[in-house]
Amino acid sequence: MTISIDDLQTDDTRAAASVDRTIRLITTGAGSGESCSPELAKGPWEFDAGPAGYGPGSSMGDVIPTGSPRQGALPESYRTAPAEELHRRIRTAKATLGDRAVVLGHFYQRDEVIEHADFVGDSFQLANAALTRPDAEAIVFCGVHFMAETADLLSTPEQAVILPNLAAGCSMADMADESSVEECWEQLAEVYGDLAATDAEGRVPVIPVTYMNSSAALKGFVGRHGGIVCTSSNAKTVLEWAFERGQRVLFFPDQHLGRNTAKAMGVPLEQMPMWNPRRPLGGNTAGELDDARVILWHGFCSVHRRFTVDQIAQARIDHPGVQVIVHPECPMPVVDAADAAGSTDFIVKAIQAAPAGSTFAIGTEINLVQRLAAEYPQHTIFCLDPVVCPCSTMYRIHPGYLAWVLEELVAGRVVNRITVADEVAEPARVALERMLAAKPPAAATQPSVPQPSNAGA
Ligand code: SF4
Repeated sequence: MTISIDDLQTDDTRAAASVDRTIRLITTGAGSGESCSPELAKGPWEFDAGPAGYGPGSSMGDVIPTGSPRQGALPESYRTAPAEELHRRIRTAKATLGDRAVVLGHFYQRDEVIEHADFVGDSFQLANAALTRPDAEAIVFCGVHFMAETADLLSTPEQAVILPNLAAGCSMADMADESSVEECWEQLAEVYGDLAATDAEGRVPVIPVTYMNSSAALKGFVGRHGGIVCTSSNAKTVLEWAFERGQRVLFFPDQHLGRNTAKAMGVPLEQMPMWNPRRPLGGNTAGELDDARVILWHGFCSVHRRFTVDQIAQARIDHPGVQVIVHPECPMPVVDAADAAGSTDFIVKAIQAAPAGSTFAIGTEINLVQRLAAEYPQHTIFCLDPVVCPCSTMYRIHPGYLAWVLEELVAGRVVNRITVADEVAEPARVALERMLAAKPPAAATQPSVPQPSNAGA
């Protein structure tokens, strides 16, 4: 579900609920609570100039790959302008551009950026929302790098997709790079033999499945190798599609989404080995890989990894009757201890459908949780994690960058354009099209998860 910005609450309500404002109050001692880093109160441009890193927030402990895009220096007037001036400049630039530009805001983006978005949603919803604006010359994607790549895959060649801060990557997506996955594929061929050969049921040894939260290069990889893309909403349907065509699945980059989804489908944990790209055979024996039904890449989201079973227990003590809903990127014990797990869209719809007076503890990114709390005052809604810790890379997009890219467009200059090369885009679109065509099997004919034909061999 993509939310039109008109559906959101007033500016005043939104500003009061802002994570950015909460962090500033905590940092100055004017507010209670705790944030995961005092550096969150700084301007993101202070980190653009330093060593390559994700910046303060949930992902800061992860390792950013060499070669990741670097943001050039943001001009001083955008770094020093008061917040109100930046908002005024953004509004003026948007009014000047009119239909020539569309601004997309991811659910996890800070409210000070969301208030200028024409559409708000998750990555795939936003890429599709952009399709409704074919006349827009520029798609300004206030999200992270892989999302801008997906928008470029789905938009027309004439449209420029712009990421306001090039340092807005995704630590999870960066955990699976193309060369590591190619290396994994070669090692799997040594174990399974010809990866294109089919068994008596027409299934190849392994089907690669990549989460939407991955680079376009990996979407292209799965497209070239008979694989498919999934989202957190359709992961079960996509795994069913893959099991009809393969004896097993190689799932990357998020081990937790893969494990939680496959477990719910009845795949035993002992048939879900982890693939550590730094170890031979991913740290497995050939026998373990033979028996595998889902091979899980050693990747995770640093935001969703923060949620714990202890937090759920505390929420149940503090709020008897609370409904705990977590995102499937959370670790399996957290998903098991929650009342429900589902995509961002699932969480939003559950809150919308609840009777007034409901209490929700939510295990997903804090910007969305605080926005939902402000948008649905008839409920009590809070984040499972008491520490305020936004996604580092989403937080790299600040109104200063949005004002800069929009004013550059007004001046006739396209900056920070994200372009996927044709040789990558073609197979990546194939993988996305397979996902769109994948349908849940009819109940009567729904297959069980198959065993690999050489299981136990
Ligand atoms: S919330 Fe997690 S998966 Fe999403 S952009 Fe941030 S690090 Fe990546």
